[in-house]
Amino acid sequence: LGGSISRAIQQMSNATIIDEKALNECLNEITRALLQSDVQFKLVRDMQANIKKIVNLDDLAAGHNKRRIIQQAIFNELCKMLDPGKPSFIPKKGKTSVVMFVGLQGSGKTTTCTKYAYYHQKKGWKPALVCADTFRAGAFDQLKQNATKAKIPFYGSYMESDPVKIAEEGVERFKKENCDLIIVDTSGRHKQEAALFEEMRQVAEATKPDLVIFVMDSSIGQAAFDQAQAFKQSVAVGAVIVTKMDGHAKGGGALSAVAATKSPVIFIGTGEHMDEFEVFDVKPFVSRLLGMGDLSGFMDKIQEVVPMDQQPELLQMLSEGTFTLRIMYEQFQNLLKMGPIGQVFSMLPGFSSELMPKGREKESQAKIKRYMTMMDSMTNEELDSTNPKLMNESRMMRIARGSGRPLRDVIEMLDEYKRLAKVWSKMKGLKIPKKGEMSAL
Ligand code: GDP
Ligand code: MG
Repeated sequence: LGGSISRAIQQMSNATIIDEKALNECLNEITRALLQSDVQFKLVRDMQANIKKIVNLDDLAAGHNKRRIIQQAIFNELCKMLDPGKPSFIPKKGKTSVVMFVGLQGSGKTTTCTKYAYYHQKKGWKPALVCADTFRAGAFDQLKQNATKAKIPFYGSYMESDPVKIAEEGVERFKKENCDLIIVDTSGRHKQEAALFEEMRQVAEATKPDLVIFVMDSSIGQAAFDQAQAFKQSVAVGAVIVTKMDGHAKGGGALSAVAATKSPVIFIGTGEHMDEFEVFDVKPFVSRLLGMGDLSGFMDKIQEVVPMDQQPELLQMLSEGTFTLRIMYEQFQNLLKMGPIGQVFSMLPGFSSELMPKGREKESQAKIKRYMTMMDSMTNEELDSTNPKLMNESRMMRIARGSGRPLRDVIEMLDEYKRLAKVWSKMKGLKIPKKGEMSAL
């Protein structure tokens, strides 16, 4: 998708005269690309009309950066489509909230319930899981297994066949135990849809959820709108979680789900594991949808805080995607100084949120300094190497001895390096804007 949209915009900006015809052709190209990405037809049509209203042909003709104006208009429109205008109910730590999960069978409800619970547990909440799926054999076992792995209390039954009763009992029990996030997993079969919706309504009535989360598999394509709407019509859906974003999914379904439920996407699932779960962020998502990479916010930040003369060098390093220990050392220096580049790196996903979490700056700084001490005992060859096999045990021992740190600290530091190298490599192929074109991205 990204490719065809960029191509359409590129073709247009090459045209000598930007008239209505050229703009229409460009918009038609983009329409096709968005449809291919599973954005619902009606949404695409509305967006096309809006863009036509926004993009002022006179501005284009006057030689302003056409590519930028159009790209920005599309970007803004897509962001607007993902913003239903009101935030979803946000549970408060320490205060009991009931959150009910709904969605078709196989959409990822049970997996996502656990991810959601685990995410909050890591932040100090007291979550609990209730299995109100009595339809599928093995549903309780699955939830039990997940919950046990994450050490989250759970409730369910092998005997009871009434989901409403179990849901009610489970919620009661965990309220008594002062859990602050009681999560109710429901069944979601394919057949007997009317019966499913009725069951869902009854579970909702019995548990009075503060929030109903609709879970949607991102690969369902154009079916997303109708499916989301059907759920919304039966229960008061207040938020959406889109799963399986790690697969070949094109992501357009998320726009449909928001439009159909008038609720925001709050998280996305990016894998089968417990921690493959991300807070949904509109701008990076749209950037990705448009093939602009994950980096629109990041690029803005670079322009904002990095001195002009340092921008090209930084971008060059990023676009090469190679992350050596020396680069890590330099970035650590920047982070500690909290200089402008340090600020930029604090925006890279996983770069400093893990390395220097808020509220733990002192500990993190000590850790970074410890890492740097060990790196001071490295040779130039080691610092500049791109060969992951170079760091063998005898080198690690030498570094440990030289810096007076235990070997396990050296191993920890190298693990951190590997993790950061992975984050860094995602920047590879980053397009470096030409002079004066920075904001055109
Ligand atoms: P439910 O029937 O709605 O409860 O769905 P499940 O939670 O049982 O998930 C169905 C399948 O999808 C399982 O095999 C999960 O491991 C898988 N799954 C769920 N979320 C994700 C995700 O974000 N990425 C991937 N790759 N698989 C997922
Ligand atoms: Mg399930």
